[in-house]
Amino acid sequence: MQSRPSAILMYHSLDQSGSPVSITPEMFRAHMRILTGQGIPVVPLGQAASKPGSVALTFDDAFRNFSEHALPELARYRFPATVFAVSGFCGRKNDWPGQPAGIPILPLMSWSELRDAASAGVAIGAHTVTHPRLDEIDEASASREIQDSAGEIEDRLGLAPGSFAYPYGAASRAVRELVDSRFEYAVSTELDYASAASDPHWLPRIDAYYFQSEALFRRLFSASGALYLQVRRGLRSAKGRGAAAPTVEERGAIRAVTGSVLRGLVKRLRRPGA
Ligand SMILES: [Zn+2]
Repeated sequence: MQSRPSAILMYHSLDQSGSPVSITPEMFRAHMRILTGQGIPVVPLGQAASKPGSVALTFDDAFRNFSEHALPELARYRFPATVFAVSGFCGRKNDWPGQPAGIPILPLMSWSELRDAASAGVAIGAHTVTHPRLDEIDEASASREIQDSAGEIEDRLGLAPGSFAYPYGAASRAVRELVDSRFEYAVSTELDYASAASDPHWLPRIDAYYFQSEALFRRLFSASGALYLQVRRGLRSAKGRGAAAPTVEERGAIRAVTGSVLRGLVKRLRRPGA
């Protein structure tokens, strides 16, 4: 029996749009209530991988609705969290070039809102200056995106960011070396649990979008939850390959899902636009 994994949850926006980067504020509150109810330790990002059965909370892009809907909940439960800010877009909207269609354009936290969050104990991590795919720009530009975002966060907040999130989970080898040397931790969008074996500079995360039901979120650390994630991962990589149909292994995983709860969940797997 392997030791229990931990989970680094990835949130983006807390809103009602139903978009691929959104979950509702109500569902977020339910997640926090369930974590407390189940006695799951919520730890800072840097501790999650080495603490089996723990959860860390991360929020990409620093949407203003974090201040409105997440901060009060985090304060209520005294949960630590990390917000990854796009330094060139603070106080603006998430309308950077390359934003896919179907993503709502919403206000992002200003520097003073980030400062308030930091004073409330939220860690502010870097997420580049303009949110490019770092594997598609030249190395000098990528270096500026990484260094300048960290530099401005340090200048504005008086605290050097210890962590970095790769936009779109995209990186070349050279980019990863830059990030490794600058930050203590970096998070990817690899859909998986974390463990002591995880690379601290390529930490896997679990997209909260996939857990938009209380029944499902309660199974985060159960065998059925792990199987559900395995199926989601399979479907996501099928999409990445441009394939319409699940592979033999994915069909096998789906067939293996026999519990009544999971049968209902498989119906949810057809997620548009993810
Ligand atoms: Zn992002």
